[in-house]
Amino acid sequence: MKDDIDRLSKLFLEFPGIGERQSRRFVYALLSKNQEYIDSLSENIKKLKQRIAQCRSCYRYFPADGYDECPECTSPETDKSLLLVIEKDSDFEAVRRSKLYKGHYFVLGGLVPIVEKSTPDKVRINELVSQVKKQAQNGLKEIIIALSLTPQGENTDRYVRESIEPIVAQNGIKVSNLGRGFSTGSELEYSDQDTIKNALENRK
Ligand SMILES: [Zn+2]
Repeated sequence: MKDDIDRLSKLFLEFPGIGERQSRRFVYALLSKNQEYIDSLSENIKKLKQRIAQCRSCYRYFPADGYDECPECTSPETDKSLLLVIEKDSDFEAVRRSKLYKGHYFVLGGLVPIVEKSTPDKVRINELVSQVKKQAQNGLKEIIIALSLTPQGENTDRYVRESIEPIVAQNGIKVSNLGRGFSTGSELEYSDQDTIKNALENRK
């Protein structure tokens, strides 16, 4: 029979990068908090799914407020000629924080593992292709693929390029990568403003 500590640590195990030992430390950390903290935490978790929606165009999470498309996708100030393909929401936040990029985004939602040839279920590849098709009619000139410089990231880069190849060829859209301002294996989400600036300026 599992006790409550086991049950809750099993739930934390599903978090990215969290292992057996850390998940149990989370539970013990919660046990040491007062009731007010616990109530506020569970209340906020409950509200999360109700108040945050996934944008139907770029697939990032945003405070919904009744809309199904995020402000970046709908704003007339967004540069329609650029589309930045990133792995996850935290990459979006890093680039937006840098205030250096004004174009559209697309959150791929993961990376393609090297062992598997093509896995449309691991990333939103079909969604990306239809988004590119849509934006191609709307002034899209360049797609910047900004995935991490790891073997998995590069594998995904190839997969994305192959998948969008027919549509970009047909519409004369350029496909580029961020410049190598990054050291091998470094992640967009941990990059500072200067690194992101260099990477955007030196894209090729
Ligand atoms: Zn959006």
